[in-house]
Amino acid sequence: VERTLSIIKPDAVGDNHIGAIIARFEDAGLKIAALKMIQLTQKQAEGFYAEHKERPFFASLVEFMVSGPVCVQVLEGENAIALNRELMGATNPDDAAPGTIRADFATAVSANAVHGSDSPEAAKREVAYFFSAEEVH
Ligand code: ATP
Ligand code: MG
Repeated sequence: VERTLSIIKPDAVGDNHIGAIIARFEDAGLKIAALKMIQLTQKQAEGFYAEHKERPFFASLVEFMVSGPVCVQVLEGENAIALNRELMGATNPDDAAPGTIRADFATAVSANAVHGSDSPEAAKREVAYFFSAEEVH
């Protein structure tokens, strides 16, 4: 089976959508293999999104990610990475297909409710960024 890292971002946590978003994952057959709520530090957020550090939106992205607590979870299942990206919808909620998490819960490209790993390499790195082996069940 495949594992992927999912983050419920500060906008969706603040808007009381944690349960609804977790239900989307479980209803699609993904297992919650690990789960915790944390307040990211500036350094943690910068390190997590390091691949985007040259992008014009990097500073505002980091500022958004530390603006409140996030829920981080490991999702497990067949094709978990692609399935999660499908459930999330497009990065910009204006482009997200109806019924996707971003279409239903995101308000802007800069406040888009969820993160999901985009490749097997990213998933491995991102799961290890937040969870020790003992914390993933
Ligand atoms: P994520 O990595 O958070 O799952 P993604 O893979 O769909 O999102 P990326 O291209 O990796 O999109 O961008 C990372 C995040 O940076 C996006 O989720 C979004 O919040 C923000 N972002 C991307 N493009 C823009 C933009 N043009 N303006 C503002 N923020 C942006
Ligand atoms: Mg991404």
